[in-house]
Amino acid sequence: MSPKLDNINNISKRNFLEQIGMIAGSTALYTAMSALDLVHASAKDKPPLLSTEGKGKTVLILGAGLSGLVTALELSKKGYKCQIIEAREHSGGRAQTARKGKVIDELGGERQVCDFDHGQYLNIGPWRIPAEHKAVIHYCRELGVELEPMINKSVHAYYYSENIEGPLKGRRVRQVELDVDRAGSIQELLAKAVGNGSLDDEIDTEDKERLLEYLASTGLLDRKKLNYRANRGRGHSIDQYPGTLLDAGKLSEPFELAELLKINIGRRWNTADHPSVMYQAKGGMDQIPFAMEKVLKRRSISYNSEVTYIQNNINNVVITIKNTKSGKVKKIEGDYVISTIPFSVIAGIDNNFSNDVKTALKSATSSPAFKIGLQFTRRFWEEDDMIYGGASYSDMDGHYQTSYPSSNLFGGDGDVMLTNYKYGGGSVELSNMTIPERIEHSLTCGEKLHPGNFRKYYNGKAISKSWHRDRYALGGASSFRSRRQRRKNIPIVVKGEKRIIFSGGGMSPYHAAWMTGAIEGAWQMIHEFDKRVAKG
Ligand SMILES: Cc1cc2nc3c(=O)[nH]c(=O)nc-3n(C[C@H](O)[C@H](O)[C@H](O)COP(=O)(O)OP(=O)(O)OC[C@H]3O[C@@H](n4cnc5c(N)ncnc54)[C@H](O)[C@@H]3O)c2cc1C
Repeated sequence: MSPKLDNINNISKRNFLEQIGMIAGSTALYTAMSALDLVHASAKDKPPLLSTEGKGKTVLILGAGLSGLVTALELSKKGYKCQIIEAREHSGGRAQTARKGKVIDELGGERQVCDFDHGQYLNIGPWRIPAEHKAVIHYCRELGVELEPMINKSVHAYYYSENIEGPLKGRRVRQVELDVDRAGSIQELLAKAVGNGSLDDEIDTEDKERLLEYLASTGLLDRKKLNYRANRGRGHSIDQYPGTLLDAGKLSEPFELAELLKINIGRRWNTADHPSVMYQAKGGMDQIPFAMEKVLKRRSISYNSEVTYIQNNINNVVITIKNTKSGKVKKIEGDYVISTIPFSVIAGIDNNFSNDVKTALKSATSSPAFKIGLQFTRRFWEEDDMIYGGASYSDMDGHYQTSYPSSNLFGGDGDVMLTNYKYGGGSVELSNMTIPERIEHSLTCGEKLHPGNFRKYYNGKAISKSWHRDRYALGGASSFRSRRQRRKNIPIVVKGEKRIIFSGGGMSPYHAAWMTGAIEGAWQMIHEFDKRVAKG
């Protein structure tokens, strides 16, 4: 029975489409979906609806990172037989968490075995999810991955600048102090400029009054004099905090503008995707890929299987795989291949791709990234420094940020702290250190942020990760950096050739270093894949 168009409001769009698919086939279904605007390639909050049915066709998916897992999840729902080929012994790709027993081997020969206490962990890859990343949240909801707040900014954490001159050199400054002083001092200058007519060409009298009223109402300026002075935004100094009876405490005194201007850290505003409160998977970010893996059919992921050659033919693809444990080599064949191996890695795998595709893949660049975490026996940052989550920043050589744990706040035990994270420049120098040197560097920096505590409460357990020394990642992210490179290469990569298409985080110009980029990249490519299968 064919669905009548006048009935369309009474049945769900999905049912309607299912009926079209049954009756007229996948090309008609694809056309109908386009008409109903359901095949948005740009959808960022849920996977695309697919028009084709797999009917047992085999799709080989290279890589069990988030892109590969999402590809398998969505195509399996449509009856494609998905087999994931993964070089590592676990899924998740870069979405990794280090716990006791985790082995990290680096190109260059360094080997670490994580010995954190039971229950302790460090997210060595992704560690924060902004509310804007709906694609990640979509799967966390669908698969029941519990998310908890990740405190990205704590106003009580420190800025520490030692490469400056003046009274703030080598002095820990609370972020609230510097942030508010910067804002207040600039407000005062602005108020003066409005008052002395310097902005007369920019705004009219009415708006000048409104602006002054706004400045006076922020609480940072004296209402009458419009000068910046001690205020409640900046708060009380800890040793003069208000008490009881007649003890009203004393507001802390602002720093001089000239001194503030010397400090070159903490200047950047939080971006919309790095707000003060973000989210993390409870128990470690690897819970996201593990939840995806659980819903896939057993044995649909072949672990320890390194792809060493890809032969792409007109009617099939033959993949040569080396077992990383036994060294055994075998070939497998698939009707289609979707590769989610990072572009910089696949560019180095032998293949029979055309020169255009080879050149496009080789044009992707990789960003180095380094993380190190140390375990402490006491939460001194909370108990002594009033810092709950957030991160301290410095200009110390080789240091960028020290991020405090957001889970187990107020807990009785210690915790693992991300003592240093560097992305891009500077991370290579840190990775060039031996493992003991990396730890020593972290302790030296940490002692400046938390004198007398960092070494004292470090329990000798640490883990570091150099992503550019991971042979299956070769960096924190692999993407086409410039607009020109993207315009030139992304169309080639999206097109793929013969029976192979490419996916992964590198497909996203802005989100290449985010999980949402990996997921949205996968959605984009399964949509692309669906189109091609529909066309036959
Ligand atoms: C340090 C760091 C911090 C990050 N922080 C965040 C964050 O806070 N929030 C966020 O959302 N994202 C973050 N990300 C980004 C996020 O982790 C990635 O974008 C995402 O995990 C990439 O997924 P993918 O599937 O595209 O690639 P991958 O996860 O790299 O998956 C590719 C898979 O291919 C496999 N592979 C490689 N070579 C072969 C081969 N020869 N044969 C077989 N398999 C192979 C790999 O082992 C891997 O499993 C961070 C990443 C890093 C490194």
